[in-house]
Amino acid sequence: MKIKQIINNCAKFNHWLFSSQCLLCAASTNTGKDVCQDCFDALPWHTAPHCQQCGLLSNHPICGHCLKEPLDFDATFAALRYEFPLDALMQQYKYGSALQTARLFAQLMITHHTLHNIDVMIPMPLHPQRLQERGFNQSLEIAKLLAKQSNIPLDYTSCTRTKYTPPQASLPLKERAKNIKGVFACSANLAGKRIAIVDDVMTTGASLNELSKTLKKAGAAHVECWVVARTLQKY
Ligand SMILES: [Zn+2]
Ligand SMILES: [Zn+2]
Repeated sequence: MKIKQIINNCAKFNHWLFSSQCLLCAASTNTGKDVCQDCFDALPWHTAPHCQQCGLLSNHPICGHCLKEPLDFDATFAALRYEFPLDALMQQYKYGSALQTARLFAQLMITHHTLHNIDVMIPMPLHPQRLQERGFNQSLEIAKLLAKQSNIPLDYTSCTRTKYTPPQASLPLKERAKNIKGVFACSANLAGKRIAIVDDVMTTGASLNELSKTLKKAGAAHVECWVVARTLQKY
């Protein structure tokens, strides 16, 4: 490793440990969060009335879409709407290996919601080849922090992605459910367990639904999705 790279990594580590700089505007902050109070308040919080199951805007506890075509997960907790500056932060996080952003995401996820009555937390699995390409599982890094903070056991080995498929984001929306069908496997017996799946962004929810199906087949009694942000269009 070149000396410049070592110094750079040390600087990143120090920033992560002792950060008092806002990740969004670089102002110094003493909020105890990784963003300053102004940026925190201006975030696109998902606080408008929404369906408890899919998280889309609705004035009813369960929206018509979920009543008509029941999903395999039981609830969705999305901290934010997936729009600026979340889209920019997410790109930085996934493709720039900015792991310190994981800490911010975990902070945001438990700002308005509490993990309650959950036996096991499971991050959205990545295929080993994708993991190698990216260097880290973005959902696992967030889940590690959430699990620790909420004192919930984290299981990131029982569920695997057995097929290497094109990234969901690269596909037309209608093809995403087909692309993800049958790609997950679960080796654990989850009989009667209440599970929280952790993922970064929920778009159509096809991956989360497919993983939920796998968890329910393994015996899970209840599955809820915990995501940093969600798009709010109906697909
Ligand atoms: Zn700021
Ligand atoms: Zn719904």
